[in-house]
Amino acid sequence: MQKICVLGSTGSIGVSTLDVIARHPELYAVFALTAHTQVRKLAEQCAQFNPSFAVVGTALAATELQLLLREKNITTEVLYGPQALCEVASATECDAVMAAIVGAAGLPASLAAAHAGKKVLLANKEALVMSGQLFIDAIQASGATLLPIDSEHNAIFQCLPQAYDRRPQQHGVHKIILTASGGPFLNRTLDSLDNVTPNEAVAHPNWVMGRKISVDSATMMNKGLEVIEAHWLFNAPAEQIEVLIHPQSVIHSMVSYLDGSVLAQMGNPDMRTPIAYGLAYPKRINSGVAPLDLAKVMQLNFIAPDFKRFPCLELAYAALKTGRSAPTILNASNEIAVQAFLDGKIGFRMIDQVIARVMDKLSIRELSDIDAIFECDQEARALSLEIIRT
Ligand code: NAD
Ligand code: MG
Repeated sequence: MQKICVLGSTGSIGVSTLDVIARHPELYAVFALTAHTQVRKLAEQCAQFNPSFAVVGTALAATELQLLLREKNITTEVLYGPQALCEVASATECDAVMAAIVGAAGLPASLAAAHAGKKVLLANKEALVMSGQLFIDAIQASGATLLPIDSEHNAIFQCLPQAYDRRPQQHGVHKIILTASGGPFLNRTLDSLDNVTPNEAVAHPNWVMGRKISVDSATMMNKGLEVIEAHWLFNAPAEQIEVLIHPQSVIHSMVSYLDGSVLAQMGNPDMRTPIAYGLAYPKRINSGVAPLDLAKVMQLNFIAPDFKRFPCLELAYAALKTGRSAPTILNASNEIAVQAFLDGKIGFRMIDQVIARVMDKLSIRELSDIDAIFECDQEARALSLEIIRT
């Protein structure tokens, strides 16, 4: 029986994770659930899964959750605040951690799980983009297992040899090909993007996801973050990582080998597949996802991405090539710009402009520990806010 901590259990990935766990009560028990503000939803999850701990953002939310749990006679212990997230993610009783908090807020707890040698199921790509080598070092030093949950990276993981040891050359890897849906604006003219609304931007054609990642998909910053994520996960240089638009989202990514072989992982676009793969690895379990019917799909199309159309993708490649603090700055500035867009403070096409200006202005430096990473993150956020205000 594996004991699982789900960080961000009320989010899109969190809910899908609990859906898979509920299908296998003989294999998984829930050790801890965490949410930021959605206390009622968390209380319902506690009633269903009876975790040892539940973590919320504030003391006020904790009191509210305690009352709800008492009404239902649930004995789950309630904790709150960022430190509590790290505690549950690194507790000895916990075997595996689903890191599914969105954005930089997820880094400390994801890193705590890495340091504690847990099986880390990583959905929180921003954590890896921000901390890069530091995160990989923590995994290696503790002997933790890092399993990618992002569908593309999970696909690549499945297409690489079992014995893959972070040396692409040794394994005959020619290219890693990340597929991208192209998001909701793939076929719109550039000029028509000036006035798109947040609701149009989050209406993804193939996936139902949280609002932040949905906007990232529309700008293709999501794919840019994924290029950086792939670099850290598989130790491949930027030149070896390619992006290919594939509007059906049936092929989740591919690995092209030196002998001409290309291996792809396919399936219906449903995050329960990579989640089930991560939970059961190296075994396979039922995820609740319907089998892929290729006769119904009929066509698989591919288009090379246009950097002019998706400047965020180009910014992300540039950040990866620059290295050091550049990806941390990119991520922080993107989080601020996306939130400003969602709040109606800037237009859609301002997102990449804010990021470009911040990348241009801040000096690049080495980030040797988590404090340095958060200092850089804060600096980039402050400058982004300033640019948005003026
Ligand atoms: P979401 O917005 O639906 O859920 C986010 C979760 O994080 C919620 O449980 C929320 O309570 C929690 N949270 C938010 N801010 C927090 C804070 N400051 N402190 C503590 N907890 C906080 O997001 P999502 O779509 O589930 O995405 C989660 C992560 O997984 C993101 O990093 C995203 O990039 C990644 N991811 C998501 C998908 C997907 O299909 N949704 C696919 C691949 C990767
Ligand atoms: Mg993805």
